[in-house]
Amino acid sequence: MAKVYQATHIGNVRHNNEDSLIVIEPETFVVADGMGGASAGEVASKMLIETVKKFLSKSLAPWNENILAQAILLANDKILNEARRHEEYSGMGTTATILSLDGEQAYFAHVGDSRLYRLRGDAFEQLTKDHSYVETLIRRGELTPEEARVHPMKNVLMQAVGAIAELHIDKANLPVEHGDIFLLCTDGLTNMIEDATIAKILKTAGNPADALIEAALEGGGRDNVSVIVAGVD
Ligand code: CA
Repeated sequence: MAKVYQATHIGNVRHNNEDSLIVIEPETFVVADGMGGASAGEVASKMLIETVKKFLSKSLAPWNENILAQAILLANDKILNEARRHEEYSGMGTTATILSLDGEQAYFAHVGDSRLYRLRGDAFEQLTKDHSYVETLIRRGELTPEEARVHPMKNVLMQAVGAIAELHIDKANLPVEHGDIFLLCTDGLTNMIEDATIAKILKTAGNPADALIEAALEGGGRDNVSVIVAGVD
């Protein structure tokens, strides 16, 4: 079984928390970062986690990456429909990063710029790719990761759940090793502190979720911040 820590915080400047997160038994973790005017971002990220939870409850675990992706697709339809029915929700959307562990394998599915990382020994690796405009520029060699961190368009997403009909979901599975630590987080963490700091906290903190939130707030806390940490025995 994994040892799990989770935390979310509104941050230092925002007036509402548009992030949603959930831990679903067995060993399944979801973070969602909503966007949209008024309260629409909150609606979108909550719809995502509720839809995923309900969808997974109807099929037997372990939930592989294809099942996780189906759950995101269903949420995409539901959020699109809700936005069509209510003008105030027009244009809302959410990121979705889901990880499911079954003791031997890790399965994940992902849309947007929330992230899944794995710490294995000293190797701290981002397992998801951001679906962001700056990431496409990095891949084309037009921008360095350092430039991307301060780019004026760094918040622009290429796709989000509930915002486009033709969603492309990244999904994969990989073997789990004893001692692996997985981190799911929204960009309110990764825009505030460097990867090296995150890795250090994961290695040393008694409660890594609370410690990561604290570090993000100390780093500025300009956005909502949410984290789930799952350490494999
Ligand atoms: Ca955010």
